[in-house]
Amino acid sequence: MYYVSTRDRNLKYTAAQAIVQGLSREGGLFTPAVLPRLPSGVLNDMTNMSYQQRAVYVLNGFLEDFGVMELTRFVEAAYGTSRFDHLDIAPVRQVDDSTHILELWHGPTCAFKDMALQLLPHLLTASLRKADEKKNACILVATSGDTGKGALEGFRDVSRTKILVFYPKDGVSEIQELQMKTQAGNNVGVCAVEGNFDDAQSGVKRLFSDEELRAELAEQGWFLSSANSINWGRVLPQVVYYVSAYCDLIKNGAIRNGDSINVCVPTGNFGNILAAFYAKQMGVPFQKLICASNANNVLTEFLSTGVYDRNRPFHQTMSPSMDILISSNLERLLYSLSFGNDKLVKGYMDILAEHGRYEVTEEIKRGLDKHFAAGFCDDAATLATIGTVWKEREYLLDTHTAVAWNVLEQYRERTGDSTPALVASTASPFKFCDSVLVALGEAKLAKGIDLLDQLSGKTGLPVPAPLNALKTKQVRFDQCVAKEHMVSAVRNMLLDPNFKKE
Ligand SMILES: *Cc1c(COP(=O)(O)O)cnc(C)c1O
Repeated sequence: MYYVSTRDRNLKYTAAQAIVQGLSREGGLFTPAVLPRLPSGVLNDMTNMSYQQRAVYVLNGFLEDFGVMELTRFVEAAYGTSRFDHLDIAPVRQVDDSTHILELWHGPTCAFKDMALQLLPHLLTASLRKADEKKNACILVATSGDTGKGALEGFRDVSRTKILVFYPKDGVSEIQELQMKTQAGNNVGVCAVEGNFDDAQSGVKRLFSDEELRAELAEQGWFLSSANSINWGRVLPQVVYYVSAYCDLIKNGAIRNGDSINVCVPTGNFGNILAAFYAKQMGVPFQKLICASNANNVLTEFLSTGVYDRNRPFHQTMSPSMDILISSNLERLLYSLSFGNDKLVKGYMDILAEHGRYEVTEEIKRGLDKHFAAGFCDDAATLATIGTVWKEREYLLDTHTAVAWNVLEQYRERTGDSTPALVASTASPFKFCDSVLVALGEAKLAKGIDLLDQLSGKTGLPVPAPLNALKTKQVRFDQCVAKEHMVSAVRNMLLDPNFKKE
């Protein structure tokens, strides 16, 4: 099994090369040349396995250059009970007769990014060895919140890596900021950037193309690497939990092996829902993949019309991790649905870069119709959904998952499709206390960290331990730079003698 670039399928790579490199030289994304199929009966066989065992089974089909013993070690380190507060790692909860929630936020940062970012460092450091890369990885991340903290936790004290996270001073929640500023580890750095997410993101992009900086780093034995969601090492761990959730539904007696279910995913960069698509292609009986968006509804339009048009206003919403106008991982779907037509995909991406708009072929449109449905809702509907689901089902949704719930309801009403559905829940409601409290009817909100206790008092739910611990943590990083000065933050970090070189 090897990997190809979505923009040039003649270039072949091993899994290790794909993970080390992140992005193909001509800008394409690494994609498996063929997807492994799950042999029939294997989903049934897996019902009695632990999450870790299921993970090894699924990963093994994609990572030919890794051994089973090695994968077992990585998976046990990534998904241990010292890092996740639930034995099932990604538990499935039944909320009503036909709706099940896949909780992806039991990891150390309380958002679903942990599912991939806890494993990625293990895959990356092993890949450095396998690909015979002598330099060490300096990971740069621009974050609007969840990815930054997830990557910091994943890479902290991992040998041969350093990680530096930039976040927009005015673009993350108070709790998210505190999570990052108090980050532990000897190889980590955090720096605020004056401005919004775009400023931080474009600043990081400039660092990646700064030849002088690259040369300087190379001299000291470092190369720049990214932990963002286009890396294959981030998409793959997400396939695992869709396979695992289906096994759990069989195990709980909610379905029988072979029954179809729908899957609804709150979507931003299209990474999470792409993993569900791959699970479907491997043979998990998913029927419709329902793509849920907030007011930034570029994907709703694309999946219904085949026209991708990013020329539209950007909305800042209460589900900030979905405030995205260019969903990078969509490129992998286009590659699949065009049966590997790399020239076509490259053409779309070139037009997107130049004009911000493309329209796909009839063949791809048929593929979109067959596998996907889509919808969106605004902030008011998000709040109303959190309130109703809490009142009627005593289940507390975060703002992102509430978008998915709302879109699933719209889909059921529109189509009459009553197939059981799995909703991906991507964050703990305690990460977005202020919006959730408003949704529950609280008029007066506490300040900062006290919001945690306010939400806990209101609902009787415990504050997740990693968030509770923020109350006593020391701030370690308090630097804020103008975006022009991000390069000096990188240099300072590399020259700091406290940073491990190994
Ligand atoms: C990142 C994120 C999303 C979006 O996931 P994609 O893989 O980018 O589609 C949704 N919800 C939360 C809470 C997130 O952190």
